Amino acid sequence: MVKTEREYREDICQIGRLVFQKGWVAANDGNITIRLDADRILATPTGVSKGMMHVDDLIIVDMKGNKISGRAERTSEIAMHLTVYELRPDIRSVVHAHPPVATGFATAGRQLNLALLPEVVIGLGCVPLAAYGLPGTPALTEPMLPLIPKYDAIMMANHGAVCYGEDVFKAYFRMETLEHFARIQLVAELLGGPTVLPRAEVDKLLDSRTRYGVKAKSSGEPGCPAAAEDVGGQEERFYVTRAELIGLVDEAVKARG
Ligand SMILES: [Zn+2]
Repeated sequence: MVKTEREYREDICQIGRLVFQKGWVAANDGNITIRLDADRILATPTGVSKGMMHVDDLIIVDMKGNKISGRAERTSEIAMHLTVYELRPDIRSVVHAHPPVATGFATAGRQLNLALLPEVVIGLGCVPLAAYGLPGTPALTEPMLPLIPKYDAIMMANHGAVCYGEDVFKAYFRMETLEHFARIQLVAELLGGPTVLPRAEVDKLLDSRTRYGVKAKSSGEPGCPAAAEDVGGQEERFYVTRAELIGLVDEAVKARG
């Protein structure tokens, strides 16, 4: 059933409130768009909190980003959304936010590519990290160009994340999965490091996508997601105190004479 433009406007405001309540944006961060038809994109404007939007605040732009209707100005990040629609005809909605844990990984230069959680392997495969680009300029989208056709969620270095899907809810849920995954990996790292799933288990999860009816772009290429065999995850980790480490180094130095 095709929704009315009014319903799409309500959907964007609802997702905006969720993104805000989750703490994925501060002040006027983030933007949400829906592709209304071949030529028009419904978008959040610049300068509004995503948690406090009214349906009439949204604007409509054409596929080049020119404003067709609406009072407010367009966001400087609209070009990123348009690039996703251009490269992915299957996509009807794009959600961009700065979820703090995923953005923390992106700021530390860390992609989320490890096979750790079944639902993430099935739903996203892995989440690559696009190099930093100045927001509001073509430099922002350039590093994302090779990634957009292959993935449904991308982290942007020193910036945030972008997720997209067949509708605004699927795009939002991908952002939710991404941030949840980042939180779990962070906790696993604090607790001594995550155990990465072996290749055989990763392959079973990727195979199960058909069973769950999951359409995901990332199809399990080498390193995405990275299985235990790819990262030497089978190696035993051990921990020493600072004093023990100094002792070991001293002993090694003495042994060499
Ligand atoms: Zn941003």
